[in-house]
Amino acid sequence: MTRRNQNIEFKISDKLCIKIFDAVKKAAVSLNGESFVIGGFVRDLLLNRPSKDIDFVIAGSGIDLAKATSKILGVSKVSYFKNFGTAMLKYKGWELEFVGARKESYQRDSRKPIVENGTLQDDQNRRDFTINSLAIPLNSGSYDTVVDPFDGLNDLNQRRIVTPLDPDVTFSDDPLRMLRAIRFAAQLNFTIDTHCFESIKRNKSRIDIISQERITTELNKIMLSNKPSIGFKTLFSTGLLEIIFPEVANLQGVESIEGKKHKDNFYHTLEVLDNVAQVSDSLWLRWAALLHDIAKPATKRFDKSVGWTFHGHEDKGARMVPKIFRKLKLPLDDKMKYVQKLVLLHLRPIALTKDEISDSALRRVLFDVGEDLEDLMILCRADITSKNEAKVKTYLRNFDRVVEKLKDVEERDHIRNWQPPIDGAEIMNIFNLKPSREVGILKNLIKEAILEGEIANEYQEARNFMLIKGKEMGLSPVN
Ligand code: ATP
Ligand code: MG
Repeated sequence: MTRRNQNIEFKISDKLCIKIFDAVKKAAVSLNGESFVIGGFVRDLLLNRPSKDIDFVIAGSGIDLAKATSKILGVSKVSYFKNFGTAMLKYKGWELEFVGARKESYQRDSRKPIVENGTLQDDQNRRDFTINSLAIPLNSGSYDTVVDPFDGLNDLNQRRIVTPLDPDVTFSDDPLRMLRAIRFAAQLNFTIDTHCFESIKRNKSRIDIISQERITTELNKIMLSNKPSIGFKTLFSTGLLEIIFPEVANLQGVESIEGKKHKDNFYHTLEVLDNVAQVSDSLWLRWAALLHDIAKPATKRFDKSVGWTFHGHEDKGARMVPKIFRKLKLPLDDKMKYVQKLVLLHLRPIALTKDEISDSALRRVLFDVGEDLEDLMILCRADITSKNEAKVKTYLRNFDRVVEKLKDVEERDHIRNWQPPIDGAEIMNIFNLKPSREVGILKNLIKEAILEGEIANEYQEARNFMLIKGKEMGLSPVN
């Protein structure tokens, strides 16, 4: 059943958007072609999720359509991707993509299709989901109808992810679509149709032909959705998580010995991630939440007297972070270091909740966390997932007190972003040393002495202290 040009209730109110549609329409008419807005923009328009990326399709040449449109809009820069027959231009904050309608057929070992020119209908057939194949015809000039060959409007209303063709074909042709299905379900809070869901389970191992970069792009989109647990639970239940991110899948499970159980670290982690997502849009803070307990399976022990323990999971977890980032092709720069730091420190504020806590312990945390204290505290608060409300309240109050104490010490000692008053270069100068172990040892001794409060955070005391320690190490100053 094909529904051509169904009238539906929407009105495009954005004046600039109408101006763009008018320009594309005029361009298409000058080329004797029919043009359409297609895909994500139409879907998001109907869902009231404004977006500024528009895809235009023409039965003909997308490149010619882009060229003609750019002249009408007075845009001089157009990017052409001749190999793909597509073109892109930017106009007043909008990103416009142009493509010729095409027909695709796939071979089993590649997600790169064989492409031929086609009709609008062919082009809609190659789309991944019914809700992504809606098209608004431009030539009539009214922009209030959609071409909906797969009943995508109904799926939009029912909030369902459904493939236009047999899902086994859609997913096997391009297995990235399995991740896109899960990502859209997470972003839009839609459900995946049961046939699709079963098909993803059957086709999950096909994900092997997808590049890591594309997989990670989808993972990041899931991470950035309002409630990332939705996406991760679906990744898990389809079996995809096991393949693309076994470290997280391994968190799942509860073991019981002598009637003692530990909590399920997968569901706990997802709760922490959702808690963080409620208060922060930061992708990297969310990654820290996802990875904070990543070493729990590797450090799990059962002890007859204390039950289950995960000693050192923060250390081991921090050491796992670079490996995971490398494998997922996430950036290995300061973003990785930030995630690593939060994983390493995520238990430290708990240790500070004791009544009698020394200033040096507080200074040490301030020094280690530096400028990321606020983020660490967001993670720590998010990490409280007890169902016992009284307990939650107590823990949160304890953290409030820790923050007060940290503030107090910071005001007095300015430890965040602090560097000891004597640096490595000066140590080398004074003792005439080359970069060496001794320099590191001395530097660290000075830092420790100040953090412990043994000497004041001040140049002359640090210098005297260094001379004494240097002497103990058999070093003598040059003058
Ligand atoms: P978003 O921009 O939020 O990622 P989108 O649906 O616009 O969502 P794009 O990747 O921008 O996604 O793709 C635009 C359109 O191209 C989609 O709506 C869909 O019709 C089509 N499309 C994209 N990727 C695929 C794919 N792997 N298989 C089939 N169709 C696809
Ligand atoms: Mg898009």
